[in-house]
Amino acid sequence: RRAREEERRSLPASTRDGHRVEIAANVNFADQAAFALSQGAEGVGLMRTEFLFLERGDTPDEEAQLAAYTAMQDALNGRPLIVRALDIGGDKQVAHLDLPREDNPFLGVRGARLLLRRPDLLDPQLRALYRAAKSGKPLSIMFPMITSVPEIIALRGICERIRAEVEGPEVALGIMVEVPAAALAADVLARHADFFSIGTNDLTQYTLAIDRQNPELAAEADSLHPAVLRLIRMTVDGAAAHGRWVGICGGIAGDPFGAALLTGLGVQELSMTPRDIPAVKERLRDCDATALRALAERALTCETATDVRALEADL
Ligand code: PEP
Ligand code: MG
Repeated sequence: RRAREEERRSLPASTRDGHRVEIAANVNFADQAAFALSQGAEGVGLMRTEFLFLERGDTPDEEAQLAAYTAMQDALNGRPLIVRALDIGGDKQVAHLDLPREDNPFLGVRGARLLLRRPDLLDPQLRALYRAAKSGKPLSIMFPMITSVPEIIALRGICERIRAEVEGPEVALGIMVEVPAAALAADVLARHADFFSIGTNDLTQYTLAIDRQNPELAAEADSLHPAVLRLIRMTVDGAAAHGRWVGICGGIAGDPFGAALLTGLGVQELSMTPRDIPAVKERLRDCDATALRALAERALTCETATDVRALEADL
């Protein structure tokens, strides 16, 4: 029985009526990729590169970053890899960078806002990424905390300059949807971004105005809140208008019912903690995509996250 379960992990997540969902893993270091693959990961949907900085206590230079990205590509053996550009600020403080203190770091210079102000951090990272892409092994780049079109245009411009400098190949450039503004304007942002990955941890925090780290409010910070689901739907619709794909890399992607509901909302890729993969795949295989679409429509009209979760009984 165990052997059968292990065998099933490596099979795709296809619903009973044949709708395929891509299942990826959130993995930061190459030496954790083998475990993710053993759980059934089909690639890495989120490599959080700030951990390269946090782990060492200093800033890894271009060569050290190139080694980290190449090692991840090698560990994935031709499977897709999405690397997130440095996401620092908010809950991810890096002491050795000595950044200015802010009264509201979650509303401050974090993610893409920091990258655009710090070419000394962004340029070496992009050089390492474009050099890694020269191997011909899959690699995409995504940018955190995007709120506007000018940010994407500026980042694309920097990517193009660096691609030319290192004579690298074209790389798909995606954005994270983590701020309500990005979801609300998804149809506009989709003109400029090759794909979307929704960061539901931050999207929930900013939509509900609940600090993601406040234990007192943890139960209320539910990514299945109908307001968050509506923003996910807007993102899916905005992306579809321009033929872009949408994934989710926040914690809710690893919740079996959440994964089913997100699939019903039209999300095409789910990236999660490796150990969550087997249960999510099993859950999706037990569903019909048609039923999930109907479920999603009902969820969008629910009054509370509790009501949304109660829909599981009807699945
Ligand atoms: C998110 O915000 O959902 C996300 C995936 O990014 P992080 O948790 O690293 O902020
Ligand atoms: Mg985030």
